[in-house]
Amino acid sequence: MMTTTADSETTWERIRYDVPAERVARVTLARAEAANAQDYQMLSEINQAFDKAMRDPDIRVVVLAADGKHFSSGHDLRDRTDINDLPTIGTQCHFDAEGAEGYMAREAEMYVGLCWRWRNLPKPTIASVQGKVIAGGLMLVWPMDLIVCSEDATFSDPVVAFGVNGHEYFVHPYEAGARLAKDMLFTGRAISAQEALQHGMVSRVVPRDQLETETIALASHIAKRPMFGLTLAKQSVNNSQEAMGMYTAIQSAFGLHHVGHSHNRLKFDGSMVDPEGVQVIRSEA
Ligand code: ZN
Repeated sequence: MMTTTADSETTWERIRYDVPAERVARVTLARAEAANAQDYQMLSEINQAFDKAMRDPDIRVVVLAADGKHFSSGHDLRDRTDINDLPTIGTQCHFDAEGAEGYMAREAEMYVGLCWRWRNLPKPTIASVQGKVIAGGLMLVWPMDLIVCSEDATFSDPVVAFGVNGHEYFVHPYEAGARLAKDMLFTGRAISAQEALQHGMVSRVVPRDQLETETIALASHIAKRPMFGLTLAKQSVNNSQEAMGMYTAIQSAFGLHHVGHSHNRLKFDGSMVDPEGVQVIRSEA
């Protein structure tokens, strides 16, 4: 058991926040009964917790972990959270507008916007991953700087089956390499932890019963190093990816993603609920 300092100041429903080691904060997805499916409330709470860690001068590294068998089954399409009720995050607006206008705004704010924001947090972040990571689940893993996963972890983005290019934070070629990205997307298959390691998509693969201790040990090691040096190193790597057009590539793919959404709505006469995630969760989780 890790030494845990419970957070007494804030009450969140979808996550927990604690300090399991010196200078290390941990945000834990706490919706195991739904395989940590993400509704807007969960995403907002994760964002609030990250901000809390960023503003705490005693924290240098943040771990994102998850309760239960699976890290995350993706987006919760039964979600009826009103974005207008959540704290302001980005600069999108008109979330209630009809057609593509509101739809794009919601996904730009809660998916692409949050992922890009988290990717650029000034302190190092580490995902601690077990079980299945499906579609939107990758959108919690890939924005983190380092990824420690257990041997049972698998990663998939099968949404080509539903007529879109991939999930909204389209960084697949940057994270998995172009060849494996196409393989994942074309086939819809789940890649294993070992395959992910071979392709540099994850940082460490450890036995399931050592996931927590190995993640915290890595976080603690990094947390002993100088804060500003860590921030500068992170920004330098991120800037290198941006020099390769990463942000523009994401926005380009996001536009195509909404062509896919719009196509579905036109073709199916508006009767088709966007299927991203739901069937996959039911069949695989
Ligand atoms: Zn979408």
